[in-house]
Amino acid sequence: MKLGEIRHQPRHLINGRWVSGATTGISVNPSDTREVVAEFARADRNQTELAIAAAADALPQWSLSTPQRRADALDLAGSELLARKEELGELLAREEGKTLPEAIAEVARAGNIFKFFAGEALRIGGETLASVRPGVQVDITREPVGVVAVIAPWNFPFAIPAWKIAPALAYGNTVVFKPAELVPTCGWALAEILSRCGLPAGTFNLIMGSGREVGQTLVEHPRVNAVSFTGSVSTGRRILTATAARQAKVQLEMGGKNPLIVLADADLDQAVDCALQGSYFSTGQRCTASSRLIVEAPVHDAFVARLTQRLTALKVGHALTRGTEMGPVVDGAQLEQNLSYMAIGADEGAQHVFGGERLDRETPGHYMSPALWLAEPGHRIAREEIFGPIACVLRADDYGHALELANDTPFGLCAGLCTTSLKHAMHFRRHAQVGMTMVNLPTAGVDFHVPFGGRKDSSHGSREQGRYAAEFYTTVKTSYMLA
Ligand code: NAP
Repeated sequence: MKLGEIRHQPRHLINGRWVSGATTGISVNPSDTREVVAEFARADRNQTELAIAAAADALPQWSLSTPQRRADALDLAGSELLARKEELGELLAREEGKTLPEAIAEVARAGNIFKFFAGEALRIGGETLASVRPGVQVDITREPVGVVAVIAPWNFPFAIPAWKIAPALAYGNTVVFKPAELVPTCGWALAEILSRCGLPAGTFNLIMGSGREVGQTLVEHPRVNAVSFTGSVSTGRRILTATAARQAKVQLEMGGKNPLIVLADADLDQAVDCALQGSYFSTGQRCTASSRLIVEAPVHDAFVARLTQRLTALKVGHALTRGTEMGPVVDGAQLEQNLSYMAIGADEGAQHVFGGERLDRETPGHYMSPALWLAEPGHRIAREEIFGPIACVLRADDYGHALELANDTPFGLCAGLCTTSLKHAMHFRRHAQVGMTMVNLPTAGVDFHVPFGGRKDSSHGSREQGRYAAEFYTTVKTSYMLA
């Protein structure tokens, strides 16, 4: 590979300086695998420890900085992300493979998150409580947790780091950020912006490399006080075990197998839109994807027919081509995994309705057609997170049966319902065993300023996003004083 063909050469940011890696890795455009997006620095254990030390050393100064200073830094970062959303969106589409409009929207979301937490830095407060003793005042205040390790997945390489890094910095913590190896350039672009927005050296550090080496070092290190992780259930469990021994604070956002219930009284066109967006946009690579479509018997066949018609017309192609509605799968390994689930579905007797084939396009990329199955509740394709553009339809006798099927999963991230019945909508909001419910909306697609998270195997620890993020990124102090 000639160096001139490589677009970017991301390096680590450690203690305010750009540092080469112990080794290097490459990231490749999934829409055109001939294109190397970056040759990036990869850290070993030693470099990771240097980044942790930098964050620990910077903590006293940043934790005592004024809220205004923190707000100014975050506001600057947010403004730059918003101003450069097209350019950075193109980078994101190139490295991760989501379509350009989705990628631009994600960068804008990241910008808005930084702006939101710029405001929150100024709003952090406490309360004064009455004491049972005369003359005694009790004040409740919030203090930073310390050094926060941010470990992010590849599927939202701007938005997910933003919703962890922004509150961490807003509340006075210092950060070591490890992006996923598939998307180092997006992580580096974010770090490059943060390196110019007035943060003291060491307050924010970027370290790239594998989960096994860099990630594991971060979660095991005694100077890391909190770990905010988004990724798979298996990695999340490993992190929980590694951190339990030393009582670090841990927040885990993991997988989903999100149900979308369609009742017979639903607006069927709206329900099909919800299914199409929720199951296949972002190539189904969303933790909130609607991968289980639970449809009441009277509209089952009509729903399947209409959704299949829409899938036939869905434009799959290069993420940067105007009009593409579904980009490639992120890499070859994920594509093979998706295709293996097509074989599993066939083996276990599910009824194949549409798609799920490898596709050729003008450029060599990891393309596949969107897939739809009719499945039984016990089938693996109806129970396991595939993380690709593969959805299945389950037939329900009535609303009660549909809710039972929806809750019959180890996951509990998000659940949707399409209905015109207020009674069922209200019942569903109360009884769906998830962290987020959607009525007449796709399961994928959440606001940037409200709590995000789930139950059961999907999440562990306090909520991300919005004001609720303060629970994780601060620790409460109770102070008594006899005046
Ligand atoms: P992953 O394989 O678990 O990786 C997530 C991050 O953890 C990556 O940065 C990875 O590094 C790192 N990692 C891997 N092993 C580690 C270890 N032993 N210690 C510390 N860190 C380690 O997940 P993914 O494939 O990137 O993302 C897909 C998964 O994320 C899906 O299950 C999806 O549902 C979930 N997700 C959940 C949410 C949510 O908010 N609930 C949002 C988005 C995605 P490398 O990859 O660089 O090796």
